[in-house]
Amino acid sequence: MKWDRARAKSALLLLLALAVLSGLAWRSGVSVPADAPLMGDEALVDETQDSRPKLIALTFDDGPRRSTTTALLDGLAERGVHATFFLIGAQVADCRDVVRRMDREGHQIGIHTFDHVRLTDLNRADFDAQVEKTRAALKSALGHNDFLLRPPYGMLDESVKAWAGCPIILWSVDPEDWKDRDAGRVVDQVTAQARDGGIILMHDIFPESVEAALEIVDILHAQGYYFCTIEELFAARQIPLEAGKSYWNAYP
Ligand SMILES: [Zn+2]
Repeated sequence: MKWDRARAKSALLLLLALAVLSGLAWRSGVSVPADAPLMGDEALVDETQDSRPKLIALTFDDGPRRSTTTALLDGLAERGVHATFFLIGAQVADCRDVVRRMDREGHQIGIHTFDHVRLTDLNRADFDAQVEKTRAALKSALGHNDFLLRPPYGMLDESVKAWAGCPIILWSVDPEDWKDRDAGRVVDQVTAQARDGGIILMHDIFPESVEAALEIVDILHAQGYYFCTIEELFAARQIPLEAGKSYWNAYP
């Protein structure tokens, strides 16, 4: 169980980048008339302005699917955005190159069971056939072993927590993109419900969801959001992720 092998280097780089962005945001928010008298530094600080950047995590379940996931990775790369993908183990073997690309391009990867089944009310052997088998498939493709878990349907019980062996990641924004596959509605709902520290749930197996996700990125970027992986989000908020515990958001 190497989930806690925090990618300290990337988290640190992110924090440094955020510190720079935060400083820039703060400075750009201060305007001093050219004829203003000289003031002490304290007088320039607007206490009402939150200088901390808004962070949000895009997460995608049920992939990989070669056509749609590849289109999504292309769009995220163009925008410099990192997301988190909770994968179906049974689909990994045919898409090992896609999974490797995710990992190489800075996205985070998690487990969404081998066959997309409910994890509640399983015995240990059946649980392992879903979670450990997926973990092994991902480890074989990627060479590391630090994967988060998202249980299908968000269904949890005490056994799932006890056996997960990694943090369990849920969500704060669910546009149910699978239901009507209406990109415009999904964009409206997600952008209306987005808030600092949120976790967005979508599915990278529908072309409409890929289209919506990229539009969401463009709209929220314009609103000052910074997209990060789950690990980066919680590191930036200094919230430790612990095995067997579940997390819905990283609200400030
Ligand atoms: Zn799912």
